[in-house]
Amino acid sequence: MKRYFFTLFMIFNLVAYSQRLEVDTLTWFEKSQELETPNYIQTLDYCKMLSTNFRQVSLSYIGKSALGLDIPILIIDKNGFSNPHLIRAKNRAIVLIQAGVHPGEPEGKDAMLMMIRDMMLYGKNVSFLDNVSIVFLPIFNVDGHERRSPYNRINQDGPKEMGWRTTAQNYNLNRDYLKADATEMKLWVDMFNRWNFDFLFDCHTTNGADYQYPVTYSLELFGNLDKSLTNWAEKKYLPHIETKMEEDGYPIFPYVIFRNWHDPQSGLRNYVSSLKLLNGYAAANNRISLLIETHQLKSYSKRVWGTYHILEHSLDYISKNHNELMNLNKSADENSRNLIINNPMYPLKYAPTGDFIMVDFKGVFYEEMQSEFTNSTWFKYDSTRPVTYSIPFFKDLKVVEHSKMPVAYVVPQEWLFVEPLLKLHKIDYYTLRENINLEIMQQSFENVKLSATSFEGRQMVESFDMKEESIQKIVLKNSLIVPVQQIKSRLVMHLFEPKSDDSFLQWGYFNIIFEQKEYTEAYVIEKMLAQFFEENPAIKAEFDEKMKDEEFASNTRSIHNWIYSKTPYWDENLNVYPILKIMDYSEYSKLENTKLLRKSILR
Ligand SMILES: [Zn+2]
Repeated sequence: MKRYFFTLFMIFNLVAYSQRLEVDTLTWFEKSQELETPNYIQTLDYCKMLSTNFRQVSLSYIGKSALGLDIPILIIDKNGFSNPHLIRAKNRAIVLIQAGVHPGEPEGKDAMLMMIRDMMLYGKNVSFLDNVSIVFLPIFNVDGHERRSPYNRINQDGPKEMGWRTTAQNYNLNRDYLKADATEMKLWVDMFNRWNFDFLFDCHTTNGADYQYPVTYSLELFGNLDKSLTNWAEKKYLPHIETKMEEDGYPIFPYVIFRNWHDPQSGLRNYVSSLKLLNGYAAANNRISLLIETHQLKSYSKRVWGTYHILEHSLDYISKNHNELMNLNKSADENSRNLIINNPMYPLKYAPTGDFIMVDFKGVFYEEMQSEFTNSTWFKYDSTRPVTYSIPFFKDLKVVEHSKMPVAYVVPQEWLFVEPLLKLHKIDYYTLRENINLEIMQQSFENVKLSATSFEGRQMVESFDMKEESIQKIVLKNSLIVPVQQIKSRLVMHLFEPKSDDSFLQWGYFNIIFEQKEYTEAYVIEKMLAQFFEENPAIKAEFDEKMKDEEFASNTRSIHNWIYSKTPYWDENLNVYPILKIMDYSEYSKLENTKLLRKSILR
């Protein structure tokens, strides 16, 4: 009886409270018949309402955008803590849920504002908070979010108005995790390292073909993620959300990349996420992240609810298995310290093995149409006619490029412009106190091709051939020494190893080393040739061979330059990578034993 009265009392309280808050607790999305998304101020007002009325919700800011707008986060914790150390002490997992990386894709924001309200006001799913605390970033790209228009996403069905894909500086934040050029990304990486999340969610909307799935997802199941975490994600977490989403009427499917972009029957292909994307960056930091991609052609309402459901089931699962996940994260961090011992050949690039499995794909009927205007064909989908196709999925990937891990990389002091990025990513490194003669590995390049257009404001290196050579060299004091035996070992490998698509080298940081600064004049070298060839018969033989190549033989300037490159006048630094590698522990121990290293970051 007593219990009955208590329950009645609780219900009365809840009703009274919700009546008192009734008007304000409806989200903009709900008030607009699920057709609209709130602007920045409206979103912030709702966040303030939540943090003012519910002690478990704290509003904070990670900093200011390029245009000076505060970037808010909501922290939802059972005790109302907003400090990661206090939350950790309660043995709760901390998850990041972020939306508005691409502000034209705001489902995550509207889904989470409702979910937090539902937790706080109605007690729905509030038990998740026993074991999980949530950091919610409603609008990562706040500047892009305020560039609102109905015309920002030509392929997409709603909301009525939406933000723009890039920041005020035209950066696509979902290409910026590793290089962190954007103001907003620098703040994000700081937040990431401060909170040390156990799991991350990234909410988006996808382009591409038409099919039945309202929600597709991507998890890093190959590549950079620790094997035990990969196993947990693939064998435990994923089957759970697949089943639950199917039961809810929101069947999910892996993020769809067809071998021929719009043609489902060409088959699906798998990929390893680059570190410029969140999945790849989180994986390299030993964390699982889920990329949620709702389907652009579904109604905005359906997309928001699909996002709500997948987040809800995920939080439920993480809450029930938080200890297991946190332990796996901890051992993954330990494993990454010892990568060089356990697996010294570090994989840098993957490609499909060519093997496939047949999968059922819930597509829609489509036919190839001849364009009246462009001389080409296009796929016309009929979303009213669902068809299940049996299609090949090229799921398995193999390593096609790898590199032997060095004990440490060396950054000579004239190239310290990379240091701020090392600091930002909390990569450990030392400064060398004295000059020292070491056996080191030096890399150099040939046939370098720079890309014709810029990508994210940088001129990428498209292709090159690379040589490695072991040499004795005096490494000068004030160089940075970056060991690979550290938690951030994968970031170190991807930043410094030229063959990684995410390296400093490929992002164009070192393009200046490819510029030839001195040239020979024809009237100088022609006079030298007779004697030079006589003294260097091997070069002469090579020259004769090259002259059989018509293209080479037709360009006098490049012939002269080639001969110049064989003389002692040639620039020995041209095309030589200034970052050096210490390959042997015996060499590295010379630095450690003589106390030549001064630690640059203390944790
Ligand atoms: Zn997106």
